[in-house]
Amino acid sequence: MRTVPAFDLFFIILHALLIPLVGLAAWLVTGLPALLALALALLAAYLLLALRRPLRRRQAAGAPFPGEWGELLLSRSPFYRGLDEGGRMRFERDVRLFLAETRIAGSGGAPVSWTTRLLVAAGAATMLHGRPEWEPPLHDGVTVYPGFAFDRYYRPGRGSIAGQAPAGGPLLVAEKSLLEGFAGERDGINVMIHEMAHYFDLEARKGGLRVVVDQAHPIPWGAAIEKAYGRHDFSASPLPDYAARNEAEFFACASEMFFEDPRRLGASCPRLFSLLEEFYGQDPRVVLGERAS
Ligand SMILES: [Zn+2]
Repeated sequence: MRTVPAFDLFFIILHALLIPLVGLAAWLVTGLPALLALALALLAAYLLLALRRPLRRRQAAGAPFPGEWGELLLSRSPFYRGLDEGGRMRFERDVRLFLAETRIAGSGGAPVSWTTRLLVAAGAATMLHGRPEWEPPLHDGVTVYPGFAFDRYYRPGRGSIAGQAPAGGPLLVAEKSLLEGFAGERDGINVMIHEMAHYFDLEARKGGLRVVVDQAHPIPWGAAIEKAYGRHDFSASPLPDYAARNEAEFFACASEMFFEDPRRLGASCPRLFSLLEEFYGQDPRVVLGERAS
């Protein structure tokens, strides 16, 4: 994540230039200097509003990272543990930016513990580490349910749904399953990464991402994952059976294994691994010490 996304900066500068120019033109055409004064007043009001987000992000990015946060990440995130000093600093800044911008609420307005909030942010920081120009795709935030699961009527403690990624958001996750995903071992299971992968997938399709993989020319992301799904041998796959449901679940399950147990995925499915490596802009085996960098 960038402290101030280039896209935001571009529009702020563009508007900051256009508003006084329009005022100046209006003054010259009408001969009324009050129109220029009005444009300058509008510019001041615009800057006051438009700079709030960049300033909030700058403040968040520069805030110290509490020691207990670092300790929790060291014990629960093999990815964070494997980063060098520069990598950890960027990871911590991403966590800060994520928490400053993303609404994380308990179901029914219940408070969410700092450990859960931190692990939600750690999932995002892990997935974004190789794509510093991307933003987390969680526009409607995250809703945390108590217990291991909820049912299709969103009743906590019932059913077997550990997480869900409705297209309109927010991301839904059962807290104990989320914590289990960050239990520290490399078991290929992490519900936060799974659900967030669904949103990354949607954003990539909407945003027209193209990937090269093993082809001569870039193709749309949707076509690439569809092709990978079509040629995957599920009978000999390290992915869970759930991955066979459709290409979206295939990508989400593969993303879990990509970050949690990359050596296994890379060894069993090298072409799929390369596709995810290009998508996420990183090879987690390097961070996890499973491959020479
Ligand atoms: Zn899913």
